[in-house]
Amino acid sequence: MYGSLGISKNVIELAERAEKEIKNEFEEIDRICELNSLKVLKAFKKYNVSEVHFNSTTGYGYSDIGRDVIENIFADIFETEDALVRSQFISGTHALTVALFALLRPGDTMLSINGKPYDTLDEVIGIVENKSSLKSFGIKFEQIDLVNDDFDYEKIESRLKQSKIKLIEIQRSKGYSNRKSISIEKVEKVIQHIRNIDKDVIIMIDNCYCEFVGDKEPTQVGADIVVGSLIKNLGGGIAPNGAYIVGKKELVELAGERLTVPGEGKEVGPTLGINKYILQGLFMAPSVVANSLKTAVLASKMLENIGYKVEPRYNEKRADIIQTVEFGKEDKLIKFCQGIQMCSPIDSNSIPEPWDMPGYTDKVIMAAGSFTQGSSIELSCDGPIRSPYIAFLQGGLTYQYGKIGVMRAIENIID
Ligand SMILES: *Cc1c(COP(=O)(O)O)cnc(C)c1O
Repeated sequence: MYGSLGISKNVIELAERAEKEIKNEFEEIDRICELNSLKVLKAFKKYNVSEVHFNSTTGYGYSDIGRDVIENIFADIFETEDALVRSQFISGTHALTVALFALLRPGDTMLSINGKPYDTLDEVIGIVENKSSLKSFGIKFEQIDLVNDDFDYEKIESRLKQSKIKLIEIQRSKGYSNRKSISIEKVEKVIQHIRNIDKDVIIMIDNCYCEFVGDKEPTQVGADIVVGSLIKNLGGGIAPNGAYIVGKKELVELAGERLTVPGEGKEVGPTLGINKYILQGLFMAPSVVANSLKTAVLASKMLENIGYKVEPRYNEKRADIIQTVEFGKEDKLIKFCQGIQMCSPIDSNSIPEPWDMPGYTDKVIMAAGSFTQGSSIELSCDGPIRSPYIAFLQGGLTYQYGKIGVMRAIENIID
């Protein structure tokens, strides 16, 4: 059977060996999956989810009880006050943008404490010139870089004491950078540090790729507002689009009024039949995240065993579902991504090539044979074409499909 997908005996043996070495990691992933499943089920029971909640609204979307229950459930899982979970968010970047425009006013300063934020926010913030940026509205941006993959506590303290900062953004996942992703423990520590200096500054977290990787979410360690995408972890591979914002009631309300209309906010927004898919996706999410973590751990171990530099290593504690592999050579990165595409369910006969993408300086190669366009909780792999040629691998709706994809990709790079 493996032969029919072009996977050799050599790679089967590599996978068998790696699987024997990652049993402990899989046990820990299963433990976290169980905890998060308990969390989800408890929230479903609390709000008595029923078939009526799958009903749809159209037009303005008044009185959508399914939408309200979904938002209550998200708030419950994040142990926070309120949530905005909408298909009107067209992406994670859109939800981050809505949150930033909702919370910042002309003259305010936003501070990122993990260096430059995610690439797609460049034009939103105005790091790259755009007529519609926050900068064009007179909102200032500053950043403090990480030192040795941790926050620069001294610089943060001196900056907060110097003059008023309105909002601090922390992006946990690494994006296309070389740094490590930021653990919940580090988030907790830095929030305590910030709170000792400034009680009011809004602390906003870009939580993309981090949900359900551990047993706690940032709102449980003091974050005011948290943002993420539904075509990543919490959509469970089932939500067809959308994103979420959760946090303090007054902040979520502002986000609602920015997404829709001042004075209407969260009260409007038709769900057009999506409620069932958001609920079912959330229900599946703990297990889907666990499967993508297992896929990442297997890839990490197999690639390390054949001599590649990987981050994180198989036995390191993970903050997100991203696995990076340093290939050092352009053709290996390309071939690896092409191998992932070959064993994807959709467009398996397409061959991805590096291409110019809006918002990126280098060409990027992307393997994404997913049911949902751009979904990266489904097995996907991408990377900018620049030295040291790092692949960013993520997703895998089931471990078995993830494993087969990784095996085919490794087959493609070994001589
Ligand atoms: C994916 C991601 C986003 C949002 O990306 P979209 O493609 O717009 O959904 C933002 N921040 C991080 C760290 C991400 O990984």
